[in-house]
Amino acid sequence: MQKELSVALLRSIPAMEDLLNTAWAKEFSASMGRNTVKQIITEAVTGIKSEILSANNNDNDKADYVATNDLIASRATALLHLKSASTLKYVVNASGVIIHTNLGRSPLADEALQAVYNIAGKYSTLEYDPKTGERGGRNAHVEWLLCQISGAEAALVVNNNAAAVLLALSATAVGREVIVSAGELVEIGDSFRIPEILSFSGAKMISVGCTNSTHIDDYRKAITENTAVLLKVHPSNYRIDGFVKYTSRKELAELAAECGLVFMEDLGSGLLCRLDLPFANHTPSVRDCLHEAVSKSGSNVVTFSGDKLLGGPQIGVIAGSKTIIDKIKRHQLLRALRVDKMTLAAFEATLRLYLAGKQTSIPVIGMIEAGKKMLLDTARRLCRMLKREVKDLPFFDVIEVVETEDAIGGGSFPTDVLHGYGVSLHCAATENQSLRAQALAAQLRSAVVPVIATIRNDCVILHVRTLLTGDEKLIAAGLKEVCTNIGDLRRL
Ligand SMILES: *Cc1c(COP(=O)(O)O)cnc(C)c1O
Repeated sequence: MQKELSVALLRSIPAMEDLLNTAWAKEFSASMGRNTVKQIITEAVTGIKSEILSANNNDNDKADYVATNDLIASRATALLHLKSASTLKYVVNASGVIIHTNLGRSPLADEALQAVYNIAGKYSTLEYDPKTGERGGRNAHVEWLLCQISGAEAALVVNNNAAAVLLALSATAVGREVIVSAGELVEIGDSFRIPEILSFSGAKMISVGCTNSTHIDDYRKAITENTAVLLKVHPSNYRIDGFVKYTSRKELAELAAECGLVFMEDLGSGLLCRLDLPFANHTPSVRDCLHEAVSKSGSNVVTFSGDKLLGGPQIGVIAGSKTIIDKIKRHQLLRALRVDKMTLAAFEATLRLYLAGKQTSIPVIGMIEAGKKMLLDTARRLCRMLKREVKDLPFFDVIEVVETEDAIGGGSFPTDVLHGYGVSLHCAATENQSLRAQALAAQLRSAVVPVIATIRNDCVILHVRTLLTGDEKLIAAGLKEVCTNIGDLRRL
């Protein structure tokens, strides 16, 4: 009997041809192609078949399978919906972390977006000089601007800062020694490690000093005739408190010049201009670094990211002495690390905002500089909007404006806190409050436009500092979706 039922169920599965002729399969075929739809239906059917075969002696379970048509339709359409939606999609960043690497770091300024739009769908002067009708260089579109803003003699852009460090080291130190402080052998993100990048570049790493203290004499003693570079690395995402002694860039630059070496500094975030923040004063800008390191006979370069504090697209910049940059420009690796036209368009437009002194219209700079009053006004507005949205629902007992601790992120100022405001959602009491907050945060993340919030003291916190135009409405829509699913949440 048991076996017979299974056989009957398996037999009741419609033929693939019939499934492909259903209205839903035809609709998906129009956007994904019949073959893809066929594969996905097969996946759904295979799953159902194995469930039928493995179901134990409970005939009630099997009774559910009698309507195999409906079951296949619902499983397959769920899979098809999943596969036909983009996975790279817009989210609302309510986390309060401005340069959030997982969320795409810097949102671009309108000017940069417009530039991408103007260039991406057309032919362009990417590597063409209309005056001569001959080949031009793609780097030329941003080099002058970078020099103008940072005071560098020359500049070169590549895919990202990791590539900039790799290329700069490969071009200046292959087969030779690079001296770096033991306290600066950092790991950034989960994959950029200074010792590994050095070894990739073909240079030999000589680490000097201790984790918390490196003296100029440590560098001096380590210099041999095979030394090519003195490297300084911004510790970015970490900081040592207590007794710390690092060698200044001025001392290092002077020593490099005296010994005919290159002084290279990986600045990481690359603050292009000074920001009006108390703690931004202890991070010198790119211009300051280049200026401090300049000495008549010396050659120095800095590397930094385009999508961290600079607020542009993903790009890596190498800026500094012309002789060194020229050498780097001739290196074969550059071809493999070159920058795409959309990125260049966005970067050029972003740099022009700096040139015009309009950096506040760059989203990340605007977010860092956002005043408390403006943030409080936004939080109050959002709070009112959300209260209206969940009016009459017993699910939330408190929705209120709270103070928040926001962060710059992206490895910049890891221990500095930006004081801001947000809206706190407190779910009505249950046995497991923290599960409630987590469930709510998870529901907000799975809204049509996902909302990324934080959790504090069993409340979900929506930080307003990182919200962009239109995000408040999207949060309200997301919360509405959550409330629609309220039955599900109640069961948690
Ligand atoms: C972020 C960072 C990098 C890596 O830059 P990407 O642009 O992410 O490649 C390298 N060095 C430092 C010091 C950094 O902060």
